[in-house]
Amino acid sequence: MKVKKLRVFDFDDTLVKTNSFIHITNNGINNKLSPGEYAVYQEKSGDIFDYSDFEDVKNPKQIKQMTMVFKRIANKRNGKGLFILTARSAYKPVRKYLKDIGIDMENIFVKALGSNDPNEKANWIKNKIENENYNDIYFADDSEKNINTVKKMLLKQKNIKYKLQKINYD
Ligand SMILES: [Mg+2]
Repeated sequence: MKVKKLRVFDFDDTLVKTNSFIHITNNGINNKLSPGEYAVYQEKSGDIFDYSDFEDVKNPKQIKQMTMVFKRIANKRNGKGLFILTARSAYKPVRKYLKDIGIDMENIFVKALGSNDPNEKANWIKNKIENENYNDIYFADDSEKNINTVKKMLLKQKNIKYKLQKINYD
C-alpha cells in the first residue's frame, strides 16, 4: 500500500509559548489561567470563559526544538500533508506567526477548531484517515487529554502506522 503521511502539530505550548491567558469570571470574581493550567482545570458551575487573548499571537516565543522539526518537514515536502490543528478559533494570526518566522507555504494548512474538546481533534484526524487515505500519522500536542483521545481513535483504525508525541514545555 502506498504510504501517505499526515503530520499534525498543535500550536500553543507545542510550537509556541505566548502571553495569552484564558480569563474566567465567576460571580464577579476574575481569574486567569495559562493554557497549561487550563488543560487540567476542572470547570465550576457559573464559570464564564473568555478566550479573546487567543485571537492574536501575543509575545510569541518559539519552542525551538519543535519548530525545527516543523520546519524540516515543511521544507522536505513543501508543506504537503502538514497541518496545525489548534483549539483556537482564528487561523489567521497563526498563519501570520508562521510567516513571521519564515514559514510561508501555501500548502501548510491551519485548522482552527474553536473548541478545546479532545474529541474534535481526534475526529478531525479520523476524517483525514477515512476520507483522504492517510496511513502514516504523526501527532504532537502538549495536552495529555488530546494525545490519549487521539490514541484511542487510532487504535481502532486498520492498516495505519502512527507516532504520538506529548510535548513537555516549561
Ligand atoms: Mg497546546
